[in-house]
Amino acid sequence: MLTVEPLPSIRVFQIPVHLHPNYTQWLTDRIQHRQGSHVVTLNAEIAMMTEKDPAIAEVIKQADLIIPDGAGVVFYLKFRGKNQKRFPGIELAESLLEQAAIHDWQVVFFGGAPGVADRARERWLHTFPNLQIFTQHGYLTPETAAEWEEKLAYLQPQLIFSCLGVPKQEFWIREHRHLCPDSTWVGLGGSFDVWAGLKNRAPKIWQKLHLEWLYRLCQEPSRWRRMLALPQFVWRSLWS
Ligand code: UDP
Repeated sequence: MLTVEPLPSIRVFQIPVHLHPNYTQWLTDRIQHRQGSHVVTLNAEIAMMTEKDPAIAEVIKQADLIIPDGAGVVFYLKFRGKNQKRFPGIELAESLLEQAAIHDWQVVFFGGAPGVADRARERWLHTFPNLQIFTQHGYLTPETAAEWEEKLAYLQPQLIFSCLGVPKQEFWIREHRHLCPDSTWVGLGGSFDVWAGLKNRAPKIWQKLHLEWLYRLCQEPSRWRRMLALPQFVWRSLWS
């Protein structure tokens, strides 16, 4: 059977970031060839996590597609002569849902507090009423986790969106991929919270000015410690 070729990549520190003008098309081709994928959306904060924790680096390096989610990663590539457009994970997910509606794919939303994935599903059903979305919140007990794994194995959906936060979602994907080997598994952090209307993305002007991180910090000041990774990323980029 024909397969979709892996993409060329360039390293951000030790993590390969894949280069392509249309990641959605590449993933759509993979899904149509029944080629499973693990997708990671890399930003400066995650890149710094991989520098500090070899276990996180290892799981991310094994992904089939690593896209530049953050402005820092895009600048890093630009300084090395690669003009790769930024593609936030949430936008990749939105474009994949559009493809799911076109191709009749089944989709799983896993993660978030109880009720959040259901609200995100409702939001998407307004846009694509025929979309088949199955949901499960992300706070499982060992018993409910076993039931959920059985259900996943039965469903064999084309798309599995996992919103457990980084790096929990990446480890969860690695541990569960064998259940649905043909699926595309994407770690999407707080995307369900945004779709459910609990959090807002930065307005377009902030995004254009590459200040989405600052908007996020204003919305969730408790993230300040995590965000110390951003100046560390800049410093490390200059010296690498
Ligand atoms: N979450 C979850 N299960 C957990 C821990 C977290 O479902 O055991 C969810 C949490 O409710 C939130 C998301 O994971 O919706 C993490 O969002 P965040 O924006 O913090 O993601 P990150 O910035 O780490 O990508």
